[in-house]
Amino acid sequence: MNGFVVVGTDTDAGKTAFSLLFLSAFCDQSVRQARFLEDSEQACPFDYWKPVETGDPDSLRVRRLVPTATVHEPLARFVEPVAPALAAKREGRVMPGVAEILAAIPHTEKPLLIETFGGPLSPLTEDVLQIELIRAFGLPVVLVASSAVGAVGRVLSALRAMSGVDASAVVLLGERDEFAETQISKHTGLRVVSWRLPDGEWNTSSLRESASTFSGDPSEVTNPTCPRWGHRLTNLVQRDRAALWHPYTSLCDPVDPLPVVSAEREFLHLADGRTLIDAISSWWTILHGHRHPPLVDALTQAAHTLDHVLFAGVTHPPAVELAERMLASVPWQGRAYSESSRNRASLSNGRVFFSDNGSTAVEVALKMAYQFWCHRGEPSRTLFVGFENGYHGDTFGAMAVGRDPLFFGTFEPLLFRALQIPVSADQLDDTLKKHAGHVAAVILEPLVQGAGGMRMHSPRELRDLFDVAKRHGVLFIADEVMTGCRTGCIWAHSHAGIAPDLICTAKTIAGGMMPISATIAAPEIVAAFNTPDRTKTFFHGHSFTANPLACAVGVANWKLLAAPEWQANADRIEAFWRTHLEPLSHQPGVKDVRICGTIAAVELDVAGGYLADVGQRIRQRSIEAGVLLRPLGSVVYAMPPLCTSDVSLHRIVDAIKSATQTT
Ligand SMILES: *Cc1c(COP(=O)(O)O)cnc(C)c1O
Repeated sequence: MNGFVVVGTDTDAGKTAFSLLFLSAFCDQSVRQARFLEDSEQACPFDYWKPVETGDPDSLRVRRLVPTATVHEPLARFVEPVAPALAAKREGRVMPGVAEILAAIPHTEKPLLIETFGGPLSPLTEDVLQIELIRAFGLPVVLVASSAVGAVGRVLSALRAMSGVDASAVVLLGERDEFAETQISKHTGLRVVSWRLPDGEWNTSSLRESASTFSGDPSEVTNPTCPRWGHRLTNLVQRDRAALWHPYTSLCDPVDPLPVVSAEREFLHLADGRTLIDAISSWWTILHGHRHPPLVDALTQAAHTLDHVLFAGVTHPPAVELAERMLASVPWQGRAYSESSRNRASLSNGRVFFSDNGSTAVEVALKMAYQFWCHRGEPSRTLFVGFENGYHGDTFGAMAVGRDPLFFGTFEPLLFRALQIPVSADQLDDTLKKHAGHVAAVILEPLVQGAGGMRMHSPRELRDLFDVAKRHGVLFIADEVMTGCRTGCIWAHSHAGIAPDLICTAKTIAGGMMPISATIAAPEIVAAFNTPDRTKTFFHGHSFTANPLACAVGVANWKLLAAPEWQANADRIEAFWRTHLEPLSHQPGVKDVRICGTIAAVELDVAGGYLADVGQRIRQRSIEAGVLLRPLGSVVYAMPPLCTSDVSLHRIVDAIKSATQTT
């Protein structure tokens, strides 16, 4: 789609007046010839569309006064001249949402002039403001304002409200005010032009006359003054290939990286105009949806307040609030205050240790676990037990406990000793017996082993593994970096009713918008470090520990987690998988279908493991179908953001189904 969006600073700013003048300027032969256009093409080069109309229909006015323009029918028209959401309610109808409006964009060869209603922050539906729609169009915006007193303030406020939108020009309607023009252009860097409105009656000839009073070239208002990336997109992929090194990607990969320029909800927009459904939540991070408005607002607000500050000897409100909210969700919160624990009552809540990625959250847990034993006088507990197909990150400690011969084999000589056993309570029991007194901790991804192929075990099995660890007096680390918020609960381990000693979390803490992670330590762990002996300090920290921006977005996310909507969405997605994907398990070529919360995995019946090129083929095929999937070897999985619509879920299922036929 091509064109631009006309937005008013407020109701009655003159959006339709602008549209009429603009279309006349372009469509009217005499104006075109007199002013700037040599060619004598008959048809109007722009089409007009106002998706939602209330009160007197503007589209009819445009049709009457600029007969050469093609005017497309609105998607919704309401009688009362009030906010569309209200008008719809009074008429007992439903106001279409952003997705429906986008789906209704007229198909036309010509660029579209899309006229909005009210101002950028006018309510679109009962839950969404019009700015969401304006953003979703992804087109340059022309901001229209009345030149009457107060124009500068009205224009600047409206532009603030539209941060992130590509404004191409500001048009002042009415008597020309050169002071306002200069002020606006000085504070925004935008092109500002003025247009006088027809005196008296509006008809084709008075419009024609006013159209010629434009203080500039009308064609200029539709071209962004500073295309944010547009002019730099050329050769993006070639330049990437000369400058960058991507994770988990061979430098000789024949497949080019996807040039993503923007994202919203479950969608990724590419430089070449394609849109993909992000079926894997951008490596399991994006929780509610891309650019989820409450998170964007929190980040914007935080950016105006506190950017970053060191966290040693310093604290700040977002870190404290986020930690409190996280602690309220863990199993040992509010542990009964008893006489025997009186002297450590202040420790009864455990503590949150922030870092900035999942691997580091794991490193912190491993270091805390070992140091805990040192403080307890058992420094010989140097062994960790992990599980086959476990994955805990790419740093050295994380590699040691998640040993994978393909990924980490090269580093084997450098990795500390750790054991890898099948996910089995009996095997764990044998191992802990055999190494009695030497094991510091067991580390497991509860319910779903993610990178190892979305392998799942039941809450019952998880409970048994936990019980065995506890019976042997060994610490239990729950690596919830992937499972956090994905299994229908905040924590996967809570399905099993267990209380791990250390919980690692990262990807979704800030809704996937900011890099932040945390290691949450149980009261017993904290108690062992609660000593004035400074040699027993936990000497660990990162430059960006508890970054205030990330914490602020984290707080906004945890507020959302405290409301019921997110779980309703998780249930909806799980039910969708059960209805539409589970039946695939009986299909030839399919070895297994696994579902847990919003995670669904289909294991294909092929040989070859992770490097099997079937994964690469499926990835390419699904991208062509508009869905981003990234199979783990022969395991095709989906883990979409919570906002993903049923329409998109169907498309993901279709892509997975066609993958089962790719083998
Ligand atoms: C992704 C992941 C990690 C590593 O997190 P990074 O932020 O990529 O370092 C650790 N553990 C699990 C279970 C993961 O899924």
